[in-house]
Amino acid sequence: MNATHTPGPWRTGVDVENCGGGMNVLAADDSLRVAHTARFVRGGEVLISEPVAKANAHLIAAAPELLEALKACVSDHDQLAAQQVYPEEPMPCGCKVCQQMKHAIAKAEGRA
Ligand SMILES: [Zn+2]
Repeated sequence: MNATHTPGPWRTGVDVENCGGGMNVLAADDSLRVAHTARFVRGGEVLISEPVAKANAHLIAAAPELLEALKACVSDHDQLAAQQVYPEEPMPCGCKVCQQMKHAIAKAEGRA
């Protein structure tokens, strides 16, 4: 995947025109809708309620900032790992948390 996501920050906004019990995720000057979450009902059973749809929108809206924070955290761990062994050579930290963070970054970038 070569493309990168729409630059953040993103924010949530109520969808006035399309009131499906969900929420928009907006970028830039709020004129760009990058995502829309919705209530979901199947066979009369509510699988995604309105509060859950809104919580999903908040999670999506935080994604660009979460991604940057994860990258910064991995970078800090890598620097600390290098300082503990060979300060002059870059060395990736191999801790379990870094593995989780690197997996999440790869997933966010379409590589996992
Ligand atoms: Zn680490």
